[in-house]
Amino acid sequence: VTVGTALANGTQRLRAVSRSPRIDAVRLLEVVLGHDVAWLFAHGEAQLEPRDSACFEELLERRAVGEPLAYIAGSVGFYGREFAVSPAVLVPRPESEHLVALALEGWRSARTSEPIRICDVGTGSGNLAVTLALELPHSRVVAIDVSPGALAVAAHNAKALGAMSRIRFVLGDMFASLAPDERFDCIVANLPYVATGDLAPAPDPTAFEPRLALDGGGDGLEPYQRLLAQAPDRLTEAGRLFMEAGPDTAQALAGLAQAAFGAVASVMVVADYAARERVVRVCRRR
Ligand code: GLN
Repeated sequence: VTVGTALANGTQRLRAVSRSPRIDAVRLLEVVLGHDVAWLFAHGEAQLEPRDSACFEELLERRAVGEPLAYIAGSVGFYGREFAVSPAVLVPRPESEHLVALALEGWRSARTSEPIRICDVGTGSGNLAVTLALELPHSRVVAIDVSPGALAVAAHNAKALGAMSRIRFVLGDMFASLAPDERFDCIVANLPYVATGDLAPAPDPTAFEPRLALDGGGDGLEPYQRLLAQAPDRLTEAGRLFMEAGPDTAQALAGLAQAAFGAVASVMVVADYAARERVVRVCRRR
């Protein structure tokens, strides 16, 4: 078969499972052939080797039962960089780029000789920790996860992207493994926030992701409740906390945050570029 025919057939195969079947098919054929999309489109008449064609079939089959594209390809783009992923970690989502943009606000222009101390709780693939470390060259980042498998992926990404020297990786539950007096100017968290009852079965791609990274308990807010019990003691006087949430839970999470921090903090719910409430920002006032 030709490249063009393979893409057309692949797109057809993925139509039932994916909202972007053509993009998915292109990505999988890129992986198989080691050529990028521009090459594929310029070589629609090129013949596939039988071996490549069989390999493409195999990857299509994996995607057709719901496996996330990023797991099959082994990586995904986030904030302009390529992050390795495995089934040990949640696949970084575009909406988390919005959390990054919010967290960067203010610090970029901050004229301070002191390093900005950042903590990423539940780092997963390390996409938030590594991105913030690279975007803020005068930062020091602590990246925490309960999953050793996730930390291994995060450390791999830090090394591959050149952020290793500024990130400390910590195995632990929330802040439990840190010294009792360690505090941060900025805490970011994308904790599990899907209500247990809303966890989707295959072929939904999330069914292939670690439950530990998605299941937020009965109301979806249990992990954040545990974070908020400790966060006020971990934030410096003018520190900020950014939590990713779902549109269904953002307002409730903001309420919990206000209760945890009291009057000394301003809490705001920020909508993403699709106008869905996504991030809860807590700014502590001096
Ligand atoms: N955004 C993810 C989803 O909707 C959930 C991520 C999370 O729980 N932190 O599948």
